[in-house]
Amino acid sequence: GKRGASDIVVYAGEEMAAHSTQWLVVQAELRHALARDELVLHYQPKVDLRSGEVASVEALVRWQHPQRGLLPPSEFLPAAEQSGLIEPLTAWVLRRALADQAHWTSTGRCWSVSVNVSARNLEKPGFAEFVAGLVAEYGTSPGQLLLEVTETALAADARRAAQTVVDLSSRGIGISVDDFGTGFTGMSQLLGLPIAEVKIDRTFVADVLDSPQSQAIVRAVIALAHGLGSRVTAEGVETADVAYWLRRAGCDEAQGYLYSRPVPWLEIPMYEITGAAS
Ligand code: C2E
Ligand code: CA
Ligand code: CA
Ligand code: CA
Repeated sequence: GKRGASDIVVYAGEEMAAHSTQWLVVQAELRHALARDELVLHYQPKVDLRSGEVASVEALVRWQHPQRGLLPPSEFLPAAEQSGLIEPLTAWVLRRALADQAHWTSTGRCWSVSVNVSARNLEKPGFAEFVAGLVAEYGTSPGQLLLEVTETALAADARRAAQTVVDLSSRGIGISVDDFGTGFTGMSQLLGLPIAEVKIDRTFVADVLDSPQSQAIVRAVIALAHGLGSRVTAEGVETADVAYWLRRAGCDEAQGYLYSRPVPWLEIPMYEITGAAS
């Protein structure tokens, strides 16, 4: 018969129930995954556009699921953020990344490491102290650790997040503003915050050769970041032409499939990346 308002309510209810059941399954599985060490880190290099050398590497988490294979973060991070599991997850990622960094540093590769953190991590009191404690535990250098925070995370609870950022930076740990240009944080919120790096979102990088708007945005971000004393990294660099344009525009570092996909750290290209410095 005719579909009434009550049908829609029931239908929406069923869909939500199915949705949350699925999430509960993911959450339960993720809790096990953390306990069973099923998470893995892949690393993607950031390349210095002037020297062509790997300057640092970003840790990107994956889940080696026993049935479903290697899962990208989009499959489980939202559930982790909703459930509070993001705290043990971030702690796991930090430990793994610092342990790996201690290894590659001992073999002469002085790469900084970047770890992505969520808004919820920044809002947790004592987070800066916790991270500094881990750095001390692994014997790495706080100046060689960068925490990538999305622009929206900084906007979520601005005062609390800003406090954590200041605390981290006073302990020598760098802050990177990720996906810059996609949120509405605006410049004013960044002013006064000790930001080591600004990462230009790949949506602007992808079409920088064709779009005057993207060119204007990228140039403006570079000028702003340099004006604040921050380094600028472009993400999603897929072609040599884009890398060349960015270098000419004064961008400091680049990251993307042109150089390497995220890989286990042993597979990070060790050759000098040619073509960047010409
Ligand atoms: P993000 O931090 O912006 O990371 C960049 C994403 O773009 C990565 O996806 C990377 O694989 C992909 N990418 C890199 N170069 C290129 C390129 O040249 N072209 C294209 N099309 N894509 C490229 P991934 O690994 O799936 O990560 C997605 C997001 O998940 C990350 O975005 C980050 O926000 C989040 N994430 C990853 N690992 C962690 C983590 O350990 N903790 C937290 N809180 N978030 C994480
Ligand atoms: Ca990132
Ligand atoms: Ca990003
Ligand atoms: Ca992103």
